[in-house]
Amino acid sequence: MTDVTAMTATQIAGLVATGAASAVEVTQAHLDRIAAVDGRVNAFLHVDTEGALAAARDIDARRAAGEELGPLAGVPVAVKDVLTTKGVPTTVGSKILEGWRPPYDSTIVQRLRAAGTVMLGKTNMDEFAMGSSTEYSAYGPSRNPWDTDRIPGGSGGGSAAALAAYEAPLAIGSDTGGSIRQPGAVTGTVGAKPTYGGTSRYGLVAFSSSLDTPGPCARTVLDAALLHAAIGGHDPRDSTSIPAPVPDVVAAAKLGATGDLSGVRLGIVTEFGGEGAEPGVTAAFNEAVDTLTKLGAEIVEISCPHFRYALPAYYLIAPSECSSNLARFDGVRFGLRTGDDGNRSLEEVMSLTREAGFGPEVKRRIMLGTYALSSGYYDAYYGQAQKVRTLITRDFTAAFERVDALISPTTPFVAFPLGARTSDPYQMYLADLFTIPSNLYGGPGISVPCGLSEGLPVGLQVMAPTMADDRMYRVAAALESAVGTLTPPTM
Ligand code: GLN
Repeated sequence: MTDVTAMTATQIAGLVATGAASAVEVTQAHLDRIAAVDGRVNAFLHVDTEGALAAARDIDARRAAGEELGPLAGVPVAVKDVLTTKGVPTTVGSKILEGWRPPYDSTIVQRLRAAGTVMLGKTNMDEFAMGSSTEYSAYGPSRNPWDTDRIPGGSGGGSAAALAAYEAPLAIGSDTGGSIRQPGAVTGTVGAKPTYGGTSRYGLVAFSSSLDTPGPCARTVLDAALLHAAIGGHDPRDSTSIPAPVPDVVAAAKLGATGDLSGVRLGIVTEFGGEGAEPGVTAAFNEAVDTLTKLGAEIVEISCPHFRYALPAYYLIAPSECSSNLARFDGVRFGLRTGDDGNRSLEEVMSLTREAGFGPEVKRRIMLGTYALSSGYYDAYYGQAQKVRTLITRDFTAAFERVDALISPTTPFVAFPLGARTSDPYQMYLADLFTIPSNLYGGPGISVPCGLSEGLPVGLQVMAPTMADDRMYRVAAALESAVGTLTPPTM
């Protein structure tokens, strides 16, 4: 048998289904790979060796008993540490939750188990999903398998790095402003943000509740679609979950893989604000646009005049919601508790706990959000940002009257060296310039590899209307069929 760690989830599932490989063999191969390379990648915060092997044995037993197993049965998956896992440590990349073992599984993790996937462990992330490089993780940064002196993106850099390092064929991320798509782009992997409400937030440690969206990460578009189908759909335990089935993303990925985009209209957004993309990224994107044209797509330019205000609006809305969500970390209910010597007041203990438990970026966001929500400033900041959000949604709605989907580079720049953007928060925030608009709107977006710039991966983003996630999979799969997948240097 060739090395299973080099295979796609689809291939692995095929091996397990036919009995050519057992789920235990597949799982052990990935655990061995993690043991061999993760010292250099730091994709995992926790490897659940025992739990993974037990789950794999269960799959093998069920197959032996003749049970009908789902399309991803026996496939290993790595889960971003933002999702609760029963009895398995969940830190959100923060010291404040160090040692916390949640008493319940998030809906996403429940569905992963029900689909017969094997959870390998929890992946590294920027603390509370705030960041674009994993350098704000309290447990040290993850590294990009393409060049271990560079960042793997963030906040879900651990999930993307695990895929690119062949430690897992599938991973779960969460995307509030770009945290699935941007790491996908800079590691040469695929990452999809579903329609907001299309995947459940139950058991997702909240950052910005009106934006947070869990979603699939994989090395191919079809694998991402299969994972999306497995985790998506209505969940009565999430009040913003959409009570409708997930569009048929798997069929759309298969349709796209035929390489025919005739009749599909794609819009290139004229204005994104900031400085735009660096030349190498623009060149790779333009080449991909030519490819999409050759596949039959019609390309038009579309003005979305309010997209240039997306970044500032996001940096008011997301911190505002985070300042409220993170109030629950008070040293009483979860994780860390500092300075409780029996003499201090409750308030002092809370304050000492939060001082010790949160890192600088999280504190910055809490302070920004508290300020933006304070009486006297609420209308000027949070209120204004919400109005901008409405205008951005209108830009999308108008655009989708003319085109089926919008395309852009996923990120303005390729993976940057560790440390290059940590001293200036704004430089870090710019990583999400092109991904944030669809979070504010609520529609789906996917990043698919479209080429290289200076030897590093470039991603193309496809944005679709809400609940039209299938459209973006079709376009992404078509591009993948022409460009191929990207293979990082051997580690
Ligand atoms: N990088 C963005 C931020 O720092 C987005 C993070 C995310 O999507 N979780 O907020």
